This record gives sequence, C-alpha cells and structure tokens, in this order.
Amino acid sequence: THDVTAAQAATPLLPQVKNIIAVASGKGGVGKSTVSTNLAVALARTGAKVGFLDADIYGPSAPTMFNCEHEQPGMEKEGEKTWIIPIEQYGVKIMSIGFLTPPDSPMIWRGPMATSAIRQFLGDTKWGELDYMVVDLPPGTSDIHLSLIQNVAVTGAVVVTTPQKVAIMDAQKGLAMFQQPQINVPVLGMIENMAYFTPKELPENKYYIFGKDGGKEMAERFKVPFLGEIPIVQEIRESGDNGYPAVLKDSITSEAFDQLAKEVAR
Ligand code: ADP
Repeated sequence: THDVTAAQAATPLLPQVKNIIAVASGKGGVGKSTVSTNLAVALARTGAKVGFLDADIYGPSAPTMFNCEHEQPGMEKEGEKTWIIPIEQYGVKIMSIGFLTPPDSPMIWRGPMATSAIRQFLGDTKWGELDYMVVDLPPGTSDIHLSLIQNVAVTGAVVVTTPQKVAIMDAQKGLAMFQQPQINVPVLGMIENMAYFTPKELPENKYYIFGKDGGKEMAERFKVPFLGEIPIVQEIRESGDNGYPAVLKDSITSEAFDQLAKEVAR
C-alpha cells in the first residue's frame, strides 16, 4: 500500500477501498484500457478483492474487454439509498457507463453530467470492501480526472504510453497534471505499451515500430519508476476484442501484466 497525500479529497468516498489506482494516458489508442483491464484481472488472480471503474465515459470499453456487453447492473434499495450492483467477471467487480446505455449511442455529454456520473459510480455502486480499485480514465486531462481526485483518495497513477514522440508529448502533460501541487497524486510509474514487435518465425528479433525506449526515457526525465514494456502481440488485441484478458492465457504476454500487478501492489 502507498501513502495518501493530504491534498486530496478531504472526506473521501470509498473509505472501504484500500488502494485506488488510476490508469491514465495522454492519447487514446495507446492501450490504456487493455493495461487497466489486465492489471485488474492480474491483481484479482493474486487473491485480492478488486473493482474496476470504467471512467472513460466517452468511450467505455470495459463491457467488451470483460465480455459482459449484454449485462445490466441490478439495483438494490436500502432505506433512502438505491445501490447499483456492479457486474462481476473474472473475479473483478465492474462498473461502466456502457452497461447503462446502448452500445451505439453517442456520448454527447456536458462536463458536469460526466462528472456527476463518475461521482455516482463511485458513491452509489455497491463496491463493498476492496483491496484495489482500478480506474480506467479517459485519455488526456479532463473534468473526470479532477472529479475522481476530488471524490476519492487516489493512491497512485499509472501512465500508459507508446514509444513514439507524439504519444510521449501528450503523456508528459498527463503525468505533469498528477504532479501539480494542488493535485499531488503519486505517480506509481510509466508503462510502455506496443514497445516492439517480434514475429513468430524470428523469435530473437525485436522491431521497434514506434521507436525505442520512449517511455523509459520519459520515466527517467520525470524521475518516476519505469514499470516495464509490453510488446505488440496479436493475442493481446484479440483478447481485448474477445473479452478474455490476455493475462488469463498464461503466455509470455501474461507475465508482463502479472509483473505490472506486482509492481503496483508493492
Ligand atoms: P486506449 O484505452 O488507450 O484507447 P485500448 O486499450 O482500447 O487503448 O487499445 C487500443 C487497441 O489496441 C485495442 O484494439 C487493443 O486490443 C489494442 N492493443 C493494445 N495494446 C496492445 C498490444 N500490446 N498489442 C497488440 N494490440 C494491443
């Protein structure tokens, strides 16, 4: 577990959640949801109680990545309060706006609506006691980031990037946001996704399609830990689309996610 800084939520929602891990990125499409999904499942595989909040209100992918697209959360009345019951899959309690809206409906929401949705998901979902809640944030910096930080005590952030310059530039802004004094969320580290490609027939070769070590160098510059690199693997993409997280497949790629879970749990 990690120290929670005083600058965050004064009376946080979710006091019964021991660690809240925010997964962020500068750009979309770098694998933030893939990493957060696999991280959550990897943590659950260690025996921890894990929740997953899909806070990417404008592009929710948890229903697909956890293969529960057709599930609808139940409601439970307790006095004045109505609880939303999270969906459970692969040992993880999941909440996503995607469960409450048809998949093809556009999310044309104003900032305040998005932030109140997040507040509701945090406060009105029956999460129970958790060791970890993994929060899949929208790309970039947004009201939703601020809303999260104002409502719960975020333990730390993991920043996902791919190695190329345009992704790194945006990731830097995201990372700098967490380090601002008024935000002050500890950055647990950087993870470099789609770091290289190794063809099956050339297992010794690594092709650095998006450039080499971009994430590692950025971690050094910002003096935050480097949590490792994940190669481009067809199986990871297929796992995402099929809703069966790659970490469950016990392959070389699952080791990378198990290792990430170990680093985060430290
Ligand atoms: P983001 O959440 O940053 O928008 P996603 O996690 O949705 O990104 O990933 C974008 C696409 O790239 C998805 O189709 C996903 O399956 C794929 N993908 C992510 N990481 C990898 C990887 N390491 N190897 C192959 N495909 C990947």
